[in-house]
Amino acid sequence: MQKIKIVVVGGGPSGMMAAIRAAGLGQDVTLLEKKDSLGNKLLLSGKGRCNLTNTEDLEYFLKRFSKNGDFLRDAFKKFFNRQLMDFFEQRGLKLKIERQMRVFPQTDRSTSILDILKKELERSGAQVIYKAKVVDLFLAGGKVRAVRLENGWDIVCDKIILACGGASYSFTGSDASGVNIAKKLGHDIVPLRPGLIPLDVKQGYPRKLEGLTLRNIRLKFFDGKTQIVSEIGELVFTASGISGPLAITLSGKVIDMLEQNKNVSVEIDLKPALSNEQLDNRLLREFKANAKKSIKNALKELLPLRLIKVFIEMAAIDLLKKCNQITQGERERIISLLKGFRMDISKARPIEEGMVTRGGVSLKEINPKTMESRLIKGLYFCGEMIDIDADTGGFNLQAAFSTGYLAGESAAALIQLKPPAKQVAK
Ligand SMILES: Cc1cc2nc3c(=O)[nH]c(=O)nc-3n(C[C@H](O)[C@H](O)[C@H](O)COP(=O)(O)OP(=O)(O)OC[C@H]3O[C@@H](n4cnc5c(N)ncnc54)[C@H](O)[C@@H]3O)c2cc1C
Repeated sequence: MQKIKIVVVGGGPSGMMAAIRAAGLGQDVTLLEKKDSLGNKLLLSGKGRCNLTNTEDLEYFLKRFSKNGDFLRDAFKKFFNRQLMDFFEQRGLKLKIERQMRVFPQTDRSTSILDILKKELERSGAQVIYKAKVVDLFLAGGKVRAVRLENGWDIVCDKIILACGGASYSFTGSDASGVNIAKKLGHDIVPLRPGLIPLDVKQGYPRKLEGLTLRNIRLKFFDGKTQIVSEIGELVFTASGISGPLAITLSGKVIDMLEQNKNVSVEIDLKPALSNEQLDNRLLREFKANAKKSIKNALKELLPLRLIKVFIEMAAIDLLKKCNQITQGERERIISLLKGFRMDISKARPIEEGMVTRGGVSLKEINPKTMESRLIKGLYFCGEMIDIDADTGGFNLQAAFSTGYLAGESAAALIQLKPPAKQVAK
């Protein structure tokens, strides 16, 4: 039987999985990657350790994708976290589950994940062509017919899977070119926006605190006086604002508010386990025990030194003032900073710095059961270039692998073979 010729565009996790699945089903698969290596963003994932999935159940997963989660139900039913973990474990890679059910390779190295994907591509017989940037697609009779490379070559095929990623960390290869190709072919594109991204603040304090990590703090975001969201976790100050797992995870909701021109502020509760009264008692105890010491030294038990300097300045207290000279008013000012260190959010960092891209090919134009375009026969989408994005925790990579698997299987299995068209028409 004649093999189906499938071109997969993009060698990230979604494209590699699509190619592995389609080639594994016996089809003639060519994977085109614009860079000279595969999986460059995958290598950065999980700080180089690759949080490849999460062991939470399907419903929990779907909620992590906000309003678009339900679109992924079929892809997850086809190939979910257990199947993904089996995929790697059956090929000899041991995995481990860390806090919040996040799954990592036991090696703590994302290269272990990439190595298996590369080996499996080879074993499946998929051909990989590097430095092959796709710039256009050609259609014949409403179906895909060929891809055009930047160097002018055309590759004729029966099916095309676009797996080009989003628009961030463009040095890894994902530069929105796939989304632009989809748009040119008439697909609706939900505007691309940054997701999982650091936030800038209006105040200048972060410059003095750059690199400082605060653990087990509560971060609260406000739209004016109304609290939008509040969670406990880890925060890192950048030169211009806040980052770290907590700020990044909550950034999506903040960006939504900023887009509506709302005034968003953030409040850091450095001592979420203590009430104001308990904190006051604690301060009184510290000040009594260190009566002759400067406030700067006494606060070391409670706060990192760099933050003490900023707080004392904000509370308008002399850094060298002795603890036994601190007034009740000054103590109250310190407590209100410890319980509610407030800053105004000015903007999200540029999309280039986002861990994910929000927006992409509209879900209305993709069949969730196959990942096929509803506009063009034989064209499939998978991974981050479609309008899905999730919280941190391994959900984004699972979505890339699951949609890639489904796209690969659909492209391989559901084709109606036609004699090749004589001419390639646009
Ligand atoms: C710093 C960082 C850390 C992350 N950590 C995690 C994590 O731990 N867990 C998690 O779940 N998610 C994580 N993510 C998100 C996750 O990496 C992405 O969601 C995932 O890589 C998306 O996979 P993809 O295959 O859709 O796209 P990509 O990985 O972006 O791959 C797209 C590929 O397509 C190629 N390409 C693009 N355009 C063309 C073209 N026109 N022609 C040919 N090739 C093209 C690109 O070169 C690239 O190789 C992280 C992201 C970042 C930036």
